[in-house]
Amino acid sequence: MDILKDRILSEGQALGGNVLKVDSFLNHKVDPKLMYDMGTYFSEYFKDHGITKIFTIESSGIAPTVMTAMQMGLQMVTLKKQASKILNGDVYQTTVHSFTKNMDYELTLSKKYIDKDDKILIIDDFLANGEAALGAARVVEMAGATVAGIGIVIEKSFQPGREMLNEKGYDVYSLARVSKLGKDLIEFITE
Ligand code: 5GP
Repeated sequence: MDILKDRILSEGQALGGNVLKVDSFLNHKVDPKLMYDMGTYFSEYFKDHGITKIFTIESSGIAPTVMTAMQMGLQMVTLKKQASKILNGDVYQTTVHSFTKNMDYELTLSKKYIDKDDKILIIDDFLANGEAALGAARVVEMAGATVAGIGIVIEKSFQPGREMLNEKGYDVYSLARVSKLGKDLIEFITE
């Protein structure tokens, strides 16, 4: 997605070699038109996947996901990050390690918002080691539902998440694939 790559090049900041800061259009200030265009790309790619609902992880995945859900005419569900386990039978939960915060959280889904016949598209803002996306896939599968695809806004292809998700058989589609990140350097995989 060229307009996304242009924004990453003009506004993205590489922090410490493997973290990309895009606070000015995705993670803090949000550009709604760009989010809408992301929705167009995701809905075009996943239109024939039989998707019934779209899941994201709070909070930065919400904006592109709501735009995708609107264009696909589907409901979306935001998976919550809880600090500790909820000890009743109303939720599915799985422990995920946060790449940016270096701490664990409980990814949580209310049982009433998923059905075993659902085919779920998971959308997230970044893919690094794949822990968040894999955790989301685990809660979908705990419910007996199917992961029909994973949509990522910015994939850092030099980290292992993409390969790991592909090895597990998930269809991963990323709008921008960063191959190299360094001081004053951001490069993409050209497709
Ligand atoms: P993973 O679980 O794939 O290791 O990391 C993905 C999650 O960590 C995303 O949900 C995102 O919130 C966060 N993340 C990973 N890498 C980056 C990054 O370079 N920049 C930002 N802003 N968030 C990141």
